[in-house]
Amino acid sequence: MSVLDITPIGHPILRSPTRPVSAEELASPEIQRLIDNMIDTMHDAAGAGIAANQVYSGLRIAIVEVTSNPRYPYKPAIPLTVIVNPIWQPVDDETFETNEGCLSVPLRGDLQRHTNIKVEYLDRMGEPHEEIKRGLTAGTFQHEIDHLDGNLIVDRIYPRTLATWEQFDAHQRDEFVARISAFVDQVGS
Ligand code: ZN
Repeated sequence: MSVLDITPIGHPILRSPTRPVSAEELASPEIQRLIDNMIDTMHDAAGAGIAANQVYSGLRIAIVEVTSNPRYPYKPAIPLTVIVNPIWQPVDDETFETNEGCLSVPLRGDLQRHTNIKVEYLDRMGEPHEEIKRGLTAGTFQHEIDHLDGNLIVDRIYPRTLATWEQFDAHQRDEFVARISAFVDQVGS
């Protein structure tokens, strides 16, 4: 297991839709090692998720996990979840305004996400899952699957809300945490 380099914004692989993984590939030692290394890399960077093209791989694989994370203290916990070949769709028209950062982008900002989504994916053993995700957890899944489709938060962020992490902490964090914590209490995730 090892920590991989993270792809920064500007590299074309972040703008390329990723390729679905076959059952045979998924079972291979190479892909299982890639998944382990993505988990290590996400932990090392204190991220809430990571997509394969963020470690210079073009495969349709992402990881999501939120434990008690100083980078995102307001986020409800998500168990370690490996999502292979995911697809998602909103289950209704409800959206919410959140604020996201990204391991590949030095800025963060406000954007809209769907509040209630259905996600279908394979786990790392190839078992199919179909689940409803809500609230900030739904937002985290949308963020990672956006990566796998070649999309980045800067495509969705309202340009005038872009901020460095340092300036967000100084000027926007308190208001955002109060607002998003109330949302999490209301939605339950
Ligand atoms: Zn990201």
